[in-house]
Amino acid sequence: MSPEKPSILVTGGAGYIGSHTVLALQQAGYEVVILDNLVYGHRELVEQVLKVELVVGDTGDRPLLDDLFKTRNFAAVMHFSAYAYVGESVTDPAKYYRNNVVGTLTLLEAMLAASINKFVFSSTCATYGVPEVIPIPENHPQDPINPYGATKLMVERILADFDVAYNFKSVRFRYFNAAGANPDGLLGEDHNPETHLIPLILLTALGKRESISIFGTDYPTSDGTCIRDYIHVNDLADAHVLGLEYLLKGGDSEIFNLGNGSGFSVREVIAAAESVTGVSIPIQECDRRPGDPPVLIGSSEKARNILGWRSQYPSIQDIVSHAWQWHQKRHK
Ligand code: UDP
Repeated sequence: MSPEKPSILVTGGAGYIGSHTVLALQQAGYEVVILDNLVYGHRELVEQVLKVELVVGDTGDRPLLDDLFKTRNFAAVMHFSAYAYVGESVTDPAKYYRNNVVGTLTLLEAMLAASINKFVFSSTCATYGVPEVIPIPENHPQDPINPYGATKLMVERILADFDVAYNFKSVRFRYFNAAGANPDGLLGEDHNPETHLIPLILLTALGKRESISIFGTDYPTSDGTCIRDYIHVNDLADAHVLGLEYLLKGGDSEIFNLGNGSGFSVREVIAAAESVTGVSIPIQECDRRPGDPPVLIGSSEKARNILGWRSQYPSIQDIVSHAWQWHQKRHK
């Protein structure tokens, strides 16, 4: 590790995208401290795989943050921690606004007080709502159709205002569908409850679930099922390192989509999983899930042009096969 690389606070570093990014930061030579309340994050992953300092706590805990910022010298904060279940955000919006918006505002105020003004933020394509054009560019209107997307959009707005008022610089990444796992099998996706398509398909292939439900077969798409832009979690992690370096070099605040620019339907993802696993996966055709736009595909031209980001694993086969490797190990 090169000693001159600065220290970075990663909130939510014990979670799925956060943990993959911590690994990428370590590989790039950064010193990392994780702040995670472990509601959904995994302590054993930090202790056994990442082996970095873990501070257990909430982003809304101002005394804890003040103490952390006083005793360390962070050059930037990368903020992954958030509640991210769309369905739950509809039934319990207070939980989402409190954690995702109020908690983030507390973190940002603590950063201002400590004169840290570089921030990498996990936003989402859910801030766009139902797209008017595909692939979606960053300047597409934002009109989220669920509280989860609304919380992320509110933070984006706070960040824009903080830049004007306080010279607070942020990179806001709008992810499309994060998927896959560390190609070396070190890390992977481990949500509880699991609601995401690829892990649920693979749990079905492992015999842990009876079938995979297809939410809606009457969408205006080629096979009637929803189309999503799946992006490998390692590609997301790489983009975060580039986004951080862009800010550390004095870059201005920017917004970037992160997707592959191509979409796969639910049936196509199931077919890819059958080919990767060699297992015939039983399906159940179900009603649409509320809040699902038919097609979400992002244009990542801007991340390519400004950050020099390139997707290393654009193939759905690679994405599913790395996830399969992880799930087999995790559930053996
Ligand atoms: N999906 C599905 N069955 C499931 C879970 C998801 O058909 O058990 C569909 C969902 O409707 C969406 C796509 O798969 O069109 C991806 O959903 P996921 O929850 O993985 O990610 P999201 O798009 O909600 O971020």
